Amino acid sequence: MVEDIVIVGGGTAGWMTATYLKASFGDRLTVTLVESKAVSTIGVGEATFSTVRNFFRRLGLSEPEWMPRCHASYKLAIRFENWRAKGHHFYHPFERPRIVDGLPLADWWLHDGPSDRFDRDCSVLAALCDAKRSPRHLDGGLFEEVFETGEARDMARAIPEGHGTQFPYAYYFDATLLAQFLSEYGVERGVRHIQDDVLDVRLDDDGSISDVLTKDHGAIRGDLFVDCTGFRGLLLNKALGVPFVSYQESLPNDSAVALRVPVDVATHGMRPCTTATAQDAGWIWTIPLLDRIGTGYVYSSAYTTPEEAERTLRAFVGPEASDLSANHIKMRIGRSAESWVKNCVAIGLSSGFVEPLESTGIFFIQNAVEQLVKRFPGTWDDESLRRSYNRQVGDVMDGVREFLFLHYYAAARSDNAYWRDAKTRPMPDGLAERIEQWRTTLPDENSVFPRFHGFEPYSYTAMILGLGGLPVRPLPALGRLDATAARDEFQRVRAQASALIDRLPGQYEYLVHQAAGF
Ligand code: FAD
Repeated sequence: MVEDIVIVGGGTAGWMTATYLKASFGDRLTVTLVESKAVSTIGVGEATFSTVRNFFRRLGLSEPEWMPRCHASYKLAIRFENWRAKGHHFYHPFERPRIVDGLPLADWWLHDGPSDRFDRDCSVLAALCDAKRSPRHLDGGLFEEVFETGEARDMARAIPEGHGTQFPYAYYFDATLLAQFLSEYGVERGVRHIQDDVLDVRLDDDGSISDVLTKDHGAIRGDLFVDCTGFRGLLLNKALGVPFVSYQESLPNDSAVALRVPVDVATHGMRPCTTATAQDAGWIWTIPLLDRIGTGYVYSSAYTTPEEAERTLRAFVGPEASDLSANHIKMRIGRSAESWVKNCVAIGLSSGFVEPLESTGIFFIQNAVEQLVKRFPGTWDDESLRRSYNRQVGDVMDGVREFLFLHYYAAARSDNAYWRDAKTRPMPDGLAERIEQWRTTLPDENSVFPRFHGFEPYSYTAMILGLGGLPVRPLPALGRLDATAARDEFQRVRAQASALIDRLPGQYEYLVHQAAGF
């Protein structure tokens, strides 16, 4: 029976895995986590996906219990600046367009929208981001009850059917504080925590891992080993020799430089969204936390140098950046050919990573631990469990690669080689046909990447309409349908957004209130 789990790595992946396994299986498993004091964690990874709340819920943690400890804040959307043209911005919100007379409001907007701002005309979250509002009232209540009632269905984790509700936010947190918080949670529930360096990974005759040899604690044996060693892939890639499949051909950004910038949030307020600002060789993220801003330039080393990228980032941040030290990171873009081989499962950066444009790294981790629990082995007889696990996690990453590819391909911007080349790179299989279809029919369930990857058709629509580089046409049938209900709906969106801005507190005000215990 598989009972003793050894996790190597104590970054976000290691601790999310340890705590989720404990929360799911309790004392029916032993979990040991080994992490090096000498090898630091990646030090970035602060923005998440709206499904992440299911992770905290499985751990039985409410927002007031964990958010203040991790300096967490809310994320309602991603704001894309300069992707279409310099000075232009739009939002990709966690909000599906409403349905009017059987068609998404996006279709009606394309036919006869009230303005040239799809995001503002079809979504209330765009306005809340502009106004720096919290999605919760000061009494803790969510701004729309309908989202709370939709939660049970979202727990099922499949793409929700139809166009019901999309939970309206995710979180930002300080990754170091989260790892600390989760390590306390895990150790209290029996996770054995060893701080030591793994020097060697030793294999049995059949090629599975027998133990990891540590510097001060000797050999640590286990039935199942989880490789959370980040881009090193110490167990899966190095010891077991599982090849890494690069996505570099379609996603060329392979480097990043990051800064942690202290800001006076009380004065400036906090926009509840990531800002992704397009640059000459990539884009800069700006993420608001309770006491600072996380920012970084994700770029392709084929188009700029680390020195130039750091200069660009410092100029972007301004004088606040002058005394701060920058963290340069080389990124491995792609995925392990298989994430679970023999008795070793890679989770986190060792399994795979695409650039952080849609904040999917932690989503990949959460998806992987959920799938691992679902397909947890009884003994080692069942190869089909491993196969279906590998297929599912591979599909998720391949699907996200395709969605990110579209961000560059469909961006109207083409003012230098970096942005022009984005239009001619080799496309992932099947995408060319899908794009052709989207020119006449906006993305729907039948035309996006067909397997679960976290993004629904509405996200593709939001990006295509915001990026502006892919010509799309309204459905001819709309010219023959009565548009009165759609016009009413556009007005309703506007009225609801302005009422919410009046009623909701600022995000900073809310978070201070939450930290004080309401
Ligand atoms: P790491 O943080 O690298 O941890 C590796 C662990 O392995 C460490 O504890 C280390 O000590 C240990 N280790 C290594 N070697 C040994 C050894 N020999 N012995 C013992 N221990 C060892 N994701 C998001 O969801 N949202 C984002 O906004 C986001 N932004 C990102 C920005 C950038 C530039 C990058 C590169 C990534 C970003 N990610 C983001 C991804 C996210 O950072 C990672 O998915 C997440 O931090 C998990 O990392 P990890 O735990 O796999 O690896």
